Amino acid sequence: MTKLETMIGRAESIVILGHVNPDGDCVGSCLAVYNYAKEQYNKRVTVCLEKAAEKFSYLAGFEDIKNQLEEETADLCICLDSSDRERLGEFKICLDHAKESICIDHHITNHGYAMENVIDADASSTCQVLFTQMEEDKISKAVAECIYTGIIHDTGVFRYSNTSRKTMEIAGKLMEKGIDFSSIIDDSFYKKTYLQSQILGRALFESVSFLDKRCIFTVVRKKDMEFYDVDKSDLDGIVDQLRIIEGVECAIFLYEVGIHMYKVSMRSNKKVDVSKIAAYFGGGGHMRAAGCTMSGSFHDVINNLSGHIEKQL
Ligand code: AMP
Ligand code: MN
Ligand code: MN
Repeated sequence: MTKLETMIGRAESIVILGHVNPDGDCVGSCLAVYNYAKEQYNKRVTVCLEKAAEKFSYLAGFEDIKNQLEEETADLCICLDSSDRERLGEFKICLDHAKESICIDHHITNHGYAMENVIDADASSTCQVLFTQMEEDKISKAVAECIYTGIIHDTGVFRYSNTSRKTMEIAGKLMEKGIDFSSIIDDSFYKKTYLQSQILGRALFESVSFLDKRCIFTVVRKKDMEFYDVDKSDLDGIVDQLRIIEGVECAIFLYEVGIHMYKVSMRSNKKVDVSKIAAYFGGGGHMRAAGCTMSGSFHDVINNLSGHIEKQL
């Protein structure tokens, strides 16, 4: 029995939390545990997350996700893909009130804020760690779809350097559960609505290279988001597109979240450890993918980041 199984087994009520701005690994891991605990243990389970992108609506249990706090006290609180307590957002109160808690994650910066912590910084994704916490025979097709979704999103469909032999072996085992992996990849990762494609095109068109074309950034302002009628989840993938431009070592994507406030996403190829830079500005992440929120004009933000990148290049 793994730690997760033991704890699910003895809890009557379970609340599952992820991180703010939930991504594929976050939604996938939360719904994987949700379905697993319901199917195998018949428990009362609630998933609390900020509103997740519609593209994940094929995942079983998506409709059951609560965007508002309903119950603060549960026997067990399971925290997934969130590197620290603050990243749980408004739902962190559930962690404080739960009788028991477990955190499953893959962020190197995670120091273990729950009662039990299963953290593997070498794993591609939280979903990969989660797979090792479940009994293979008990993983249903629905759970396999959730785990596969998390893995493909955090590895950019097995392209990023966090992909290992183990990642591929797990993906193979999930394929054997009968999942429609082609549709999962197309529908959740590559497919874009017309407006998402428009804003991607505009962001690329307006991108600016600096530091001898080894860095590139682009910015999307509130008024652009209003014009195209898109929200933050429609901006997924813009930074990844910047990263694969020839000669680019480090790509930066900013979107406006308030007056003189920007959400920063950074991606690097080999030379720059973006997690260090993000951590310096109060954020975090991984060596090749990290983020933070910064204040000032977007020129200030780029100037500040540029100094740190230049030191590493
Ligand atoms: P993003 O650029 O938002 O896609 O995030 C890339 C990676 O950095 C993910 O692993 C995030 O969990 C992490 N990350 C992004 N923003 C923050 C933040 N403000 N604090 C800690 N980690 C972050
Ligand atoms: Mn995540
Ligand atoms: Mn993750």
